[in-house]
Amino acid sequence: MMEDIQPLIPADFGRPLVIAGPCSAETEEQVMITATELAQFGIKIFRAGIWKPRTKPGGFEGVGVEGLEWLRRVKQETGMLVATEVATHQHVVEALSAGIDILWIGARTSANPFAMQEIADALSGVDIPVLVKNPVNPDLDLWIGGIQRLYNAGIRRLAAIHRGFSAYGKHMYRNMPQWHIPIELHRRIPQMPLICDPSHIGGKRDLIAPLSQQAMDMGYSGLIIETHCAPDCAWSDKAQQITPETLHDILQSLVVRDISQSTENLSLLRREIDAIDAEIIEALSKRMRISREIGQYKKEHNMPVVQTGRYDDVLNTRAKVAEEMGMSSDFVKEVYQAIHEESVRQQLEILNRK
Ligand code: PEP
Ligand code: MN
Repeated sequence: MMEDIQPLIPADFGRPLVIAGPCSAETEEQVMITATELAQFGIKIFRAGIWKPRTKPGGFEGVGVEGLEWLRRVKQETGMLVATEVATHQHVVEALSAGIDILWIGARTSANPFAMQEIADALSGVDIPVLVKNPVNPDLDLWIGGIQRLYNAGIRRLAAIHRGFSAYGKHMYRNMPQWHIPIELHRRIPQMPLICDPSHIGGKRDLIAPLSQQAMDMGYSGLIIETHCAPDCAWSDKAQQITPETLHDILQSLVVRDISQSTENLSLLRREIDAIDAEIIEALSKRMRISREIGQYKKEHNMPVVQTGRYDDVLNTRAKVAEEMGMSSDFVKEVYQAIHEESVRQQLEILNRK
């Protein structure tokens, strides 16, 4: 699929390819200070959002076209390539006429085929690198579909940005990584670079380093990291922005793995399995946590731990669903017996706690 995708950047920008800069361009001064510091640390691609899609109205929605001038200055004065987010036909026209080097498409936009087609039409016949963020919802076909619309419009320098997927409720991550989805994308379109956005996955500064390392361990080509000269004062996404200096330290400490191509297909599948296993373990630990809460309730209400009716029900319903998905019901019953045993063991521990 899309075999003739071209390298994103003609020169060798190394691995990881690093794109850094603020979530939003706020003022000319903030843009210039951040860019100058980044350039001093050797960063070659600068990002800044000019048009900001915000969840709720009333937040800072970007400085608009005025910011394109600032990006032009960054380009001239630092020599960095500049990247910004586009979501409409008009954005594309304005970004192109301002000489923006790289465009990216945000997660809310890539979830919308009408918007993707509008952008693809606006880019028809233009040769510019475009980075497509994963849609907010975990739908690989929707992500690929958006990329394909750009490809069909003639865009060949394409990359995918993994920025995590929305989930309801509070979690450790702002957006769940679900690593197996980008890995599967990479397996289907191996020639397209995969870039990790630890800022939007993690949502907080402390998670940037571990997520970046994880991306390197999984063989990603690049990182896009929100960087601000004064993160605590940022007008958007301040909890996840880091200073250029912190970015430099993180990049220095990254262990970049050597990706040998020989067993590439197999190793991709194995990485996908590793990622799914990590999710299974995370789900199991969540299940155990809830099970311990049930244990606590049973203790407080002087109830026995094992309730046979419920157990049979769990076994049978799970086995039935699994069978519909092509697994043997005996296998799933065995798995659930083991899970149930561990769950009972944990509840007994609570019951017997003084
Ligand atoms: C961004 O990169 O600042 C942004 C808006 O990201 P996302 O589309 O991933 O939310
Ligand atoms: Mn942001």
